[in-house]
Amino acid sequence: MANVLFTNVRIIDGSGAQPYSGEVLVQGNRIARVGRSARSLPTVGVSVIDAAGATLMPGLVEAHTHFSWNDAATLREIQLMPLEEHVLWTASVAQRYLEAGWTSCVGAACAKPRLDVVVRNAINEGLIPGPRYLAASQEITVAGGLGDETLPHIPWPEFSFGVVVSGPDEMRKAVRMFLKYGVDSIKLNLSGDNFVAAARAETTWMTDEEVAVAVREAKMRGKRVAAHARSCESIKQCVRHGIEVIYHASFTDEESLDMLEANKDKHFVAPGIAIIYAMLNEAERWGITRAKAADMGYQVEWDAALESLRKMHKRGIRVLPGGDYGFAMTPHCQNARDLEFFVKYLGMTPMEAILSATKLGAEIMMKGNDLGQVKEGYLADLLLVDGDPLSNLAILREPARMLAVMKDGAFAKEPEIRSARTRWGRTAA
Ligand SMILES: [Zn+2]
Repeated sequence: MANVLFTNVRIIDGSGAQPYSGEVLVQGNRIARVGRSARSLPTVGVSVIDAAGATLMPGLVEAHTHFSWNDAATLREIQLMPLEEHVLWTASVAQRYLEAGWTSCVGAACAKPRLDVVVRNAINEGLIPGPRYLAASQEITVAGGLGDETLPHIPWPEFSFGVVVSGPDEMRKAVRMFLKYGVDSIKLNLSGDNFVAAARAETTWMTDEEVAVAVREAKMRGKRVAAHARSCESIKQCVRHGIEVIYHASFTDEESLDMLEANKDKHFVAPGIAIIYAMLNEAERWGITRAKAADMGYQVEWDAALESLRKMHKRGIRVLPGGDYGFAMTPHCQNARDLEFFVKYLGMTPMEAILSATKLGAEIMMKGNDLGQVKEGYLADLLLVDGDPLSNLAILREPARMLAVMKDGAFAKEPEIRSARTRWGRTAA
């Protein structure tokens, strides 16, 4: 691994401080030095990248990733992909995320039992490129809930998107199976979802007994639990049972917000509002007009979610980007759109939006003191971006603007020219 000096960069360091000009020296897989002026760091024996004023910032963290979702419009189309193709797809998506600047991703659920684990292991072994990755289980659900795609005449588990359990014993069995496979987290579908007509987002499906068993088994092995929790009651279940990672969290009341706030150092909320937005505004090609989406409950959920998330952000509850990219309406690698939504709809400043993907991202990766900032001693996960994300967050989802991506001190996307006098082809926005 060559030592690299990024010079002539504008640094967004991920601490919340205002950007500053300087240079950054990477040695091995760590950030060795951060200089606040030009030519303050040694250049002997290092590759010098003169970035001509481009932005250097920490790699982005996706808090709610589904590598195995195959950009289809329905859960069934995802599930029916044969295993061999599905493994290759999942691996290729992992590489795309990394090259798009997502140097860490938190798996939120996979479509077949071991897809996430196999891809994480292959990344860690250097077999395939991909982000730092926490592997999830399949979704665990109950009969009739989100993820139970079996039909009365085809009740086989292979035809179901999620693993269907009934009662604490079956839950224990399912959780132990995924722990045996080596997942980092167990995914529970606590609430319904407007994707499923008979299990709307406001409804709650799992009993406390089932949830308690799942959490106990996961914690006993030192693993984490994440939950699909759109309904108010399911959010409360997350807090009551100590489920750290809460996905969606659309419907809240004062009590649920108070509970979250009182435990805000423990929980993360990754809402994934892009899919709701897309269902309402961009899904006509898949037969979902705005009227139909509203009929499915998406307008009600959009309004509720924005109100809930605005309040959460105000109360200091950690809200992170990512979620439910990998559907036809929300294709993979447009994930940075969440940051634009956070500013537009949740009242975050652009800096807060960036921190939600970097500093807070490191915390959800359980590496808050080691990752997510441009700071001496921290792991060298860095992006070189053409332009200023603080004035235009949209550039973070433009591949051409992502000049370089470094993970763990190695380039996943090489800067085009590496010399002492690099000038990028385009000028900063
Ligand atoms: Zn999800």
